[in-house]
Amino acid sequence: MFYNNFPIQYNEPLFRPPSEADSLILQVTFGCTWNKCSFCEMYTSKTFKPNKEENVLQEIKAVAKIQPGIRKVFLADGNPMSLSTKRLLTILYSIKESFPKIRRVTAYAISRDILKKSHEELVELRNAGLKMVYVGIESGDNDVLQMINKGETYLSTVEGLLKAKEAGIKLSVIILEGVGGLTYSKQHAINSAKILNSIQPEFASVLVLSFPYGIERYKQRFLGNYVPMSIPDLLKEMEVFISHTELENTIFRSNHASNYLVLNGILSRDKQQFLNRIQFAINNPHLAGLRAEWQRGF
Ligand code: SF4
Repeated sequence: MFYNNFPIQYNEPLFRPPSEADSLILQVTFGCTWNKCSFCEMYTSKTFKPNKEENVLQEIKAVAKIQPGIRKVFLADGNPMSLSTKRLLTILYSIKESFPKIRRVTAYAISRDILKKSHEELVELRNAGLKMVYVGIESGDNDVLQMINKGETYLSTVEGLLKAKEAGIKLSVIILEGVGGLTYSKQHAINSAKILNSIQPEFASVLVLSFPYGIERYKQRFLGNYVPMSIPDLLKEMEVFISHTELENTIFRSNHASNYLVLNGILSRDKQQFLNRIQFAINNPHLAGLRAEWQRGF
């Protein structure tokens, strides 16, 4: 519905989480302030800069003229929380005023940007409409975090995310399967489960590491020795990860195009069922509903 005469000229490439498919995307920044994670090619073609405030406000007004009923807005690109609270509030208030039916505004975030804001600022942002942030935790293991050059540790991630949670901002977090390779697979799986247990996010998903520019480039960017994983290795990593989770009410998904086995449920309730399905897939790859390309990997 947005493509004919749509008043926003996006600075591509443009990314959004799958659950924001029906949201208005507003680019309040271009690129990512960090742009150095070994596995991430999302914004390597861009140098970070904020979109001018007047541009963003103009875009909101222009879209409101043709689509005043917008209910969901996603703020892009990489980390809009790097903007000052004052600027974010101006944008959030304009969204609220322009779209009377707005239900939620969401954004990608990194933990250190959240930590730079006070509890009061985060509460103000929440009250102005910022209901949830998507955070790529990637791993709960400090060795792996260092080797993928994430710029975060287990502790910094937990502190930032709990701070957002205490301010009433919901969390949707992502763990990246296979990101540490075979050597670090077990510690990555165990510590990734532990970090989720500490945070108790509302939503968690697992994506499988992919190599858009080839595995050799990833090996060069990985700050350690990356040992590739087979499909059974990845399934075993998932099994160790799920078995160590102790989550009360987290909605869990592994239904991205990169996932070999689709799991979708509530982790407290469906944990045993997930483990059974993973075991079944390990023992019966051709019967378990794995995508054809994954079956070939066995
Ligand atoms: S912080 Fe996020 S967007 Fe930025 S380089 Fe890392 S994974 Fe990519």
